[in-house]
Amino acid sequence: MEKRLKRVRGLVVNKYPYRESSDVIVLFTDEYGKIKAVAKGRRKPGSRLGAALENFCLSEIVLYLSRDRELQIVKEAQLLDPHAELTRNYKFLLGASYVSELLERGTEVFSPNRALLELALSSLKLIPEAVDLKKLLAAFLLKALSYLGHMPVLDRCVACGSREKLLYFSVEKGGVLCANCPKSADDSVMLGARGISELQRILKMPMDRLNRFKADSDLLFDLSVKFARHHLEIPDLFARKVDI
Ligand SMILES: [Zn+2]
Repeated sequence: MEKRLKRVRGLVVNKYPYRESSDVIVLFTDEYGKIKAVAKGRRKPGSRLGAALENFCLSEIVLYLSRDRELQIVKEAQLLDPHAELTRNYKFLLGASYVSELLERGTEVFSPNRALLELALSSLKLIPEAVDLKKLLAAFLLKALSYLGHMPVLDRCVACGSREKLLYFSVEKGGVLCANCPKSADDSVMLGARGISELQRILKMPMDRLNRFKADSDLLFDLSVKFARHHLEIPDLFARKVDI
């Protein structure tokens, strides 16, 4: 049985109490993707594993790691970035919880995805300065889904292949539909040429440039949440959150 001491950089995406005084920490790490690890005695006074394993902390963690166990064991943890700005405002925390829930529920253990981790980290940084939180989260979700192999098709009609008059979007079909094909999907939504071009831009644009363009963020956010639920096959993803 492989069991080794490993040093990883990881974002804490969730934690929950475990046994009498320990916590299980859900981490999204650079090298291994999602892993779950026990922080023994973390809830005892004076535990050295306190500060670095709070939600949304980016930390360097030394683990006893074994792929054939469900729970790894935290040996040491050192805080790199607490993302403290997020705690200034309830909305920031709510926005950040979309990022962490996507990483926790939308990925499998031991499936590394560095692009997704870096996207999550840049999104957490940008949340406190976002002019439009829904637009930022829509962009995060669409990019994250792309990194997870579910990139929406935006340059041609998913029914007939046409590149002309792209006006509708279907979550179930995974992309846009042209003026001739809205009936080919039960859930097609009219976005218009402008809405489609907003989707294209949001997917291409770096996260730190989003503030520069306007979008119908209510609609894009709603579509991106539905897109994530459908393509990750998690119908209740984000279902417990209040409105942003
Ligand atoms: Zn078509």
